[in-house]
Amino acid sequence: MRIAIIGGGFCGYHCAKALESKNTVTLFDTKPYFEYTPSVHKLLTNAGYAEKIQKPWDKVLKNTTLIQESVQSLTNSRATSQNHNVVFDYAIVCTGVSYPIFLKDTTDVYTVTKGEQVKNLAPVLAQAKNVLVIGGGLIGVEVAAEIAESAQAKLTIVHPGDRLIERNPAKASNYAKDWLEKHHATILFGEKVVDREKSAFITDKGKRIDADLVFWCAGIKAEAPFFVGEKDEKGYIVVNEFLQSSLPNVFVGGDIAGVQEEKTAQNAHLHADVIVHNLTALAEKKKMGTYTSKPRIMAISLGNRKGICTKGSKVWNGLLPALLKKFVEFKEK
Ligand SMILES: Cc1cc2nc3c(=O)[nH]c(=O)nc-3n(C[C@H](O)[C@H](O)[C@H](O)COP(=O)(O)OP(=O)(O)OC[C@H]3O[C@@H](n4cnc5c(N)ncnc54)[C@H](O)[C@@H]3O)c2cc1C
Repeated sequence: MRIAIIGGGFCGYHCAKALESKNTVTLFDTKPYFEYTPSVHKLLTNAGYAEKIQKPWDKVLKNTTLIQESVQSLTNSRATSQNHNVVFDYAIVCTGVSYPIFLKDTTDVYTVTKGEQVKNLAPVLAQAKNVLVIGGGLIGVEVAAEIAESAQAKLTIVHPGDRLIERNPAKASNYAKDWLEKHHATILFGEKVVDREKSAFITDKGKRIDADLVFWCAGIKAEAPFFVGEKDEKGYIVVNEFLQSSLPNVFVGGDIAGVQEEKTAQNAHLHADVIVHNLTALAEKKKMGTYTSKPRIMAISLGNRKGICTKGSKVWNGLLPALLKKFVEFKEK
């Protein structure tokens, strides 16, 4: 079968790996390597860590054609980028989400999502005096903890909710708060950064926070402008229980799939397993399997040696969750 995969993150990489030996697989991705995104924040304090989390495509995929370009249009038989036009029998869309910054002036304001950019910020962080982290969800907490543990700068976190990582149990939130405060971070709850005047970042309650380096960790946006099939009101691609889009030969996985669940690497990998099975089943006219969302183990790092692990209402804190996160990263290599 001719299979086009759009997006080489967790879902796309695992699909390509599983399908390449028996099919003609083409992977479109904007990067020349697979990147282990859950550890990208580590590059803020150790740029050399990039080598550990970026794997060149030719080292990890032996029988896949890589096109390092962005797909601009996708029909039910053709994926088109600037210089390529690939005809397929089946396609898999897994282009992830974007992390837009909602400020007019984004000077010195960065997201922590792409290793290539993040590693260049390590020397900037080393010189920074006042660092602001906007957002106290999973990414904001991991980024803030990395800075709090290793950098000299004064650190402030602004979070609109009344507790950090609030989709997790209160025990996990409290542990993150105590750990960050012990590492001299100031946390402002119940406020949002809405504007800036030069180096002063202004909250909806009128507070001004002076910062020379800002990390924006406040929300994601679903964007798949190339996709002509059905999307929901937030822009996620609508999928059925088999992870098929409204174009039956186009499967969708990872963060961009309209599945009501936490957007995680772990779920993206599980989507890949279901898609690989279903795509083959569909081609062989066999029964497809369904994808079911459920609470899964989530490991959140707090610097190098501490972490939080949650599963539903259960919480474990301390060294073991940190080791678990390292083990998962090691296993991906
Ligand atoms: C700092 C940070 C920490 C995180 N920590 C954790 C964690 O601890 N545990 C966890 O489970 N999850 C974590 N996540 C979330 C996790 O990284 C994502 O859920 C996961 O990467 C989603 O995988 P994906 O396959 O949907 O796509 P992504 O990994 O987002 O990759 C999508 C790929 O598609 C490419 N692309 C986009 N548009 C196009 C196009 N038009 N054409 C071609 N290619 C395109 C992009 O360049 C990208 O390479 C973290 C994320 C961040 C940023």
